[in-house]
Amino acid sequence: MDRILRGIMRYRVLDRASMVKQFEQVRDNPVPKAIFYSCMDSRMIPTRFTETSVGDMFVVRNAGNLVPHSQAFVDEMTSCEPAGLELSCVLNDVKHIIVCGHSDCKAMNLLYKLKSDKESSIEQRRISPLKSWLCTHGKSSLDKFLDVKGNFDKPIVFSAETPQRKFVAYIDPENNFCIEDKLSQVNTLQQLQNIASYGMLKKRLERHDLHIHALWFDIYTGDIYYFSRRAKRFLIIDESSYEIILAEIRRYYS
Ligand SMILES: [Zn+2]
Repeated sequence: MDRILRGIMRYRVLDRASMVKQFEQVRDNPVPKAIFYSCMDSRMIPTRFTETSVGDMFVVRNAGNLVPHSQAFVDEMTSCEPAGLELSCVLNDVKHIIVCGHSDCKAMNLLYKLKSDKESSIEQRRISPLKSWLCTHGKSSLDKFLDVKGNFDKPIVFSAETPQRKFVAYIDPENNFCIEDKLSQVNTLQQLQNIASYGMLKKRLERHDLHIHALWFDIYTGDIYYFSRRAKRFLIIDESSYEIILAEIRRYYS
């Protein structure tokens, strides 16, 4: 708490006045442009690595940047992730949904361990909310990951905005990352399909009025990747790729 209180004192001196000005600017007309799903990992600070600010985007964070499939939404039982979709895309007409995974994700490392039956047994899940969360909502990612049986030369097919809008992904074709990070990339892409499962978004998605993107953050190099459907892989966002990625986004999503 000491660290946090000292931070608040510094914020009062350095940032408060300028933030209040920004709050005033967007008070009557906040127009967030995106909703950003990321992991709750303490090393992930989405507003810092995207240099976004007051009023720019909604942020939802949880263990493993998961968005539960709509099948998990039974009667009034739901979670905050779909509520976030409704708040942003339906009530505020946000056009871009971003899911951002990352390397060395503790939630994904645990999900990888849970692939053995013993670890993911009902008894284990009863005593561990985290295991239960991952086993329930990460299962489709794990299944897809296990399907390729370690052969990542094989492409994996995902669906995105609509079941017909499928795309192909080569996961870590240069084999730069460990097996858990590969699962993290598969998991990030799997969330696109989960997001598109919500009926409240169907019309917008069919009209190409709402777009879903995947980013992936490498904690150890600080590089951020964009999943390019054209290149069928995650590409580092840098000086050499920026224009290419932007052109793809404009072409696909305009
Ligand atoms: Zn994580």
